[in-house]
Amino acid sequence: MENTKRRRYQGADSTMIQHDVVILGGGPAGSTAATLLAARGLDVVVLEKAHFPRFHIGESLLPGTVAIFERLGIHEQIRDAFIHKPGGKWLYGSKEVTGDFSKSDRNASFKGTPYSYLVERSVFDEILIRRSMDVGADVRFGVEVRNTIIRAGRVVGVQGTDEEGQPFEIFGRLVIDATGLRAFVSASMGKRKITQPQRMGIYAQYLASPGREDIEAGWFTGQMFYDGWTWLLKLPRNRYSVGAVLTVDRFRKSGRSPAELLEHLVAENELLTTGMGDGHERISDVMVTGNMGSTSGRLCGEGWVAVGDAAFFIDPCYSSGVHLAMKSGEAVADLVSDAPTDIPVPASLFEQYEADMRRHERSVHRMVDAFYLASRYTSVQKMVTTFQGGWFSRKFVTFVGGDFNANSAFISRVRFYSETVGSIFGNDSSRDPSNHPNYLHRNEGESDIQSADSVADQVIIEEALT
Ligand SMILES: Cc1cc2nc3c(=O)[nH]c(=O)nc-3n(C[C@H](O)[C@H](O)[C@H](O)COP(=O)(O)OP(=O)(O)OC[C@H]3O[C@@H](n4cnc5c(N)ncnc54)[C@H](O)[C@@H]3O)c2cc1C
Repeated sequence: MENTKRRRYQGADSTMIQHDVVILGGGPAGSTAATLLAARGLDVVVLEKAHFPRFHIGESLLPGTVAIFERLGIHEQIRDAFIHKPGGKWLYGSKEVTGDFSKSDRNASFKGTPYSYLVERSVFDEILIRRSMDVGADVRFGVEVRNTIIRAGRVVGVQGTDEEGQPFEIFGRLVIDATGLRAFVSASMGKRKITQPQRMGIYAQYLASPGREDIEAGWFTGQMFYDGWTWLLKLPRNRYSVGAVLTVDRFRKSGRSPAELLEHLVAENELLTTGMGDGHERISDVMVTGNMGSTSGRLCGEGWVAVGDAAFFIDPCYSSGVHLAMKSGEAVADLVSDAPTDIPVPASLFEQYEADMRRHERSVHRMVDAFYLASRYTSVQKMVTTFQGGWFSRKFVTFVGGDFNANSAFISRVRFYSETVGSIFGNDSSRDPSNHPNYLHRNEGESDIQSADSVADQVIIEEALT
């Protein structure tokens, strides 16, 4: 159907069909922006390479995002489809640290909804994008964007291929880059860089029978080991998301393929062995993400702005990704909706947005640094487990609930204490094997030939390590 809202703007080439906004990528960032912009009457096109439903990692959500579900009009659907999540628990050796979302600061943004959800992303992302379509966004699946079109220094549109592989061009007053880790626009301008080259994620889904009550009750659970961590969380239909983040060096020294390493952890890591009970069965391929941290040098320019992972991606130990994706999609949509509609959207509109996002990026990075210090130093682990309850816990819960910019003094203090305690007292690795720097390394006498389960496995390893 021809969209009657389409218009030409001042200075536009007379041959161009102009849309208000062209959004690249229909994940949580792109679909949030699309819904809010289309609901305000703008002419929005979303170009999405995949056909939905499609698998995506990133299943543990934060309470700060619930307000956006409400605003998009999808909270009820989300509540019905997924697992209620009251908070997260971390195992530091035999000790536990609990982040209960109901125990946040009085002024936490999510005080009224102190919970979130564990979601199957294939279903979750489809709920979000269907909502965009319901309110009038023109969503095109199976369409891959391949080039930006730049005229007089401004991004005016993109070129791509449609479902039949036919080339097309499309133009807008604004291009929103929501292509996730691909970061299409900034990468094509040479402005994307990896910030965390030494870590990787390995994950899969399992069928299992309940092993721990907290996991059954919807708590995100994680366990630290030296310079890495495992996670286990329940998804609908008795499936479990299982994964590990570790250094590429440790992966290489383990002498195992990703599938073998994950199976090794499932057999040996305390959280995974106790959490899944007997008789678990892997029901997906083992997947690998080699990029565990990257950022775009600029988040906006003339004619374009980046949202979600396309802006930056930070190690997922605080489950911050989907929240930041939807928050950034919302922020950009609000700015664009309030701007004049008869001229191209100026880059200056996004100056404050970029500054705010950079503050989020710095805050989360600082806490990630403290997290990995705690993984390396038993002395820092002791400090964290001792500080449970009271002021420290409330600030921590407020942060991990999604208020990343609310407590900068607390965040600086956490990192400072972690660095100081770690450097003074170090790591007493004799207490627990998982605190030992050689945890997961190949044992003496084991074969040093790395075996891969399949050719696909080997390809994934290579992709992860390049
Ligand atoms: C191991 C791991 C664990 C994680 N765990 C969590 C977690 O527990 N909680 C959490 O909140 N986050 C987690 N994340 C992060 C989370 O996956 C992302 O932050 C989130 O998906 C970002 O959403 P997005 O919309 O920006 O990008 P995406 O969800 O990646 O969506 C981007 C979309 O763009 C499309 N696209 C890409 N290129 C093109 C193109 N050229 N043309 C057209 N379309 C294109 C893709 O098909 C995709 O649908 C995790 C990440 C990893 C790697």
